[in-house]
Amino acid sequence: MLLTISTTHSPATDLGFLLVKHPDRPQSVETTGGTAYVWYPEATPARCTVALLLDVDPVELARPSKGQRSPDNFSLGRYVNDRPYAASSLLTVALGKVFRSALKGASRDRPELVDVALPLEIEVSALPCRGGVKVVEQLFAPLGWAVTATPVPLDPAFPDWGDSRYVQLRLTGRRKLAEALNHLYVLLPVLDDAKHYWVSEDEVDKLLRAGEGWLAGHPVKELITRRYLANRRSLALSALERLQAASDELETTDEPEEVDESERKKPLVKLPTEAVLAALAESGAARVLDLGCGPGTLLLELMADRRYIEIVGADVSSASLRIAERRLKLDRLPERQRGRIKLVQSALTYHDDRLKGYDAAVLMEVIEHLDEVRLPALERAVFGHANPATVIVTTPNVEYNVRYEGLAHEHLRHDDHRFEWTRAQFAAWAARVAEAYGYDAHIRPVGDVDPEVGSPTQLAFFRKAA
Ligand code: SAH
Repeated sequence: MLLTISTTHSPATDLGFLLVKHPDRPQSVETTGGTAYVWYPEATPARCTVALLLDVDPVELARPSKGQRSPDNFSLGRYVNDRPYAASSLLTVALGKVFRSALKGASRDRPELVDVALPLEIEVSALPCRGGVKVVEQLFAPLGWAVTATPVPLDPAFPDWGDSRYVQLRLTGRRKLAEALNHLYVLLPVLDDAKHYWVSEDEVDKLLRAGEGWLAGHPVKELITRRYLANRRSLALSALERLQAASDELETTDEPEEVDESERKKPLVKLPTEAVLAALAESGAARVLDLGCGPGTLLLELMADRRYIEIVGADVSSASLRIAERRLKLDRLPERQRGRIKLVQSALTYHDDRLKGYDAAVLMEVIEHLDEVRLPALERAVFGHANPATVIVTTPNVEYNVRYEGLAHEHLRHDDHRFEWTRAQFAAWAARVAEAYGYDAHIRPVGDVDPEVGSPTQLAFFRKAA
């Protein structure tokens, strides 16, 4: 798969400074999808073209990673497919890695050029395009690009066979380089409409980051959001809601009026959130910890429910805490509401006195982010030191992964997962921890139960033994 970007800005070779790739020096970079090669087919002061080629090895992609059982359902499609040739989400991953600083709009050597709209020509060979040429036009034209999408024939030697579902895309226009790269970063996978890895909540953050300044006003933002998030409806809704919130924020300048909590629109929730809320309600807890709260999905729900009078979100990542703070609109909450919630930066493998004395602790989709050898430290800190009456833990059920199309070759659901457990492994862990710290543990499925592989996620409900 090949992408080229050309400019006739004078001097055109400034493109090399913006991309932080020297025109005289071809480079190769390893990415999850394969080896990415960057070079300049032409580099004169009048015109400069950079080429990014991703060399995908489909056999390597299909290989299970270390420590992972190979999926028992052999499927030829995992080995014989269009991935080596078509501009898919793998190209986007490579783009993100190879041109990272240019995507962010940073440039050490040409900072003044970052904000200049450059005359650009972009070509993508063999772009899969679900929905046909019309969709390509719908996506790029509103962003100021002149679009030419030429269908690629199935086989030029047999014109009777007609066209393939791939097009050769050519965009011309005057845009800042970072804008152009962000358009590609979001819209190429949208056209492909088949993400080659598991799509999780933080893809929403990625989308909103890359779409900053143009997505909220795009006439087909719903289509873009839905497809970018691999048609996961709950994620798409959460992204659209946040886009809406961002544009509302631009419009409202003065103090927000007091909102009656019951009128506050309920955020849309994902599966584990629902299961956790049900278990929490059952526990009767009023003062709760959300450990590894991330960007605050559960915190939003807890704040919307008056039975929770004291809520603490803890995470090791300050970036996540900042997002949570923004999503919760902490700076604009009325005092009484503001007093119900605290966000603290904390590492869950260390004893933290601030987390002592609460009714319940939730670890929603968190434990799989820690190295397995670090788990005993987390157990000591949470069950031993913080020691709430109820602990609720959810984690993916790895057996269910075979049911996710497009996941087989990526193995785990998330790049940052250190492990994923079977039902038996999770049950054994819960039983051992319960025994060690004086709790009773019950396991519940989360989501629809498949007769062979169980539910997508699993929940352990720990209550302090009487
Ligand atoms: N509970 C949230 C986020 C899950 S992602 C939700 O379900 O939406 C996992 C979170 O755990 C991340 O935000 C990560 O920063 C946090 N995390 C991982 N290891 C941690 C540790 N050792 N201490 C505290 N937080 C940790």
